[in-house]
Amino acid sequence: MKVLIIEDDTSIAQQLSDYLGQSGFVTHTEHDGEDGKFEGSEGGYDAILLDLGLPSIDGFSILESWRADGITTPVIILTARDSKMDVIRGLEAGADDYISKPFDLDEVVARLRTNMRRTNNHTTSTLSYNNVSVDTKMGRVTVNGTFVKLTRIEFLMVQYLFMQAGRPVSINELVEHTYEDFDNDSSVVTRHIANIRKKIGHDIILTEANRGYYVPKQEG
Ligand code: CA
Repeated sequence: MKVLIIEDDTSIAQQLSDYLGQSGFVTHTEHDGEDGKFEGSEGGYDAILLDLGLPSIDGFSILESWRADGITTPVIILTARDSKMDVIRGLEAGADDYISKPFDLDEVVARLRTNMRRTNNHTTSTLSYNNVSVDTKMGRVTVNGTFVKLTRIEFLMVQYLFMQAGRPVSINELVEHTYEDFDNDSSVVTRHIANIRKKIGHDIILTEANRGYYVPKQEG
C-alpha cells in the first residue's frame, strides 16, 4: 500500500517515511504544496498524509481542489495540537481523518490502516482466501496457520492483491502500489508472482489473460 506524505518539515517527513517503511508501507514524500498537489492527483496512492501549512499552496486548498476534481483517495490531515478550527475546516474540505502534532507514529500507522480498510470495504486487519491469511497489521502471511517467509516486496504484492480481492490488478497497477521507484521491466513482477505462488500455493493468485492478477473474493 502506497502512502503520499506532503510535509514541509523535512525531519518530520523523514521520520514518517522511515517508520511507515518499517511498517510495511511504500512512501513518497513531497515538501512543497504545488508538487504535493500534483503528485496526489497523478500518483495512484492508497492514502495521503497532508500537512496544512505548506509552501506555495496550503493543505486546505490542495484538499478542496482534489475533491473538486473527484479524487477520492483517503486523506489524513496533520494539524497543530489543539487547533480545533483546523480540524473542522479540514474535515469540511474533505479530509477523512486527522492527527494532531506532535503525533505518535504508531497512531499514524493505525489511522492509515483503518482508513485504507474502510476504502476497500474490509472490516478486519486480517484478509483471507482459502487456507491463506494475510495479517496486514503484523505484516505476516500464513498458510494453514503456518507462517510463511516472504520478502518485503512479495509481502507488499500479496497484501495489495488481497486488499483488491475479486478484481484483476494489472502489472502497472501492482507496481504503482508496491514500489517507490520502478525501473525494471515487467518480467521482474512475473518472477515475484511465481515465487509467491511457490510459497503460498498456486491456486491463490490467479492470472486473468490480458488483465492481470487477482485473488478471488472469499465467499461468506
Ligand atoms: Ca508545515
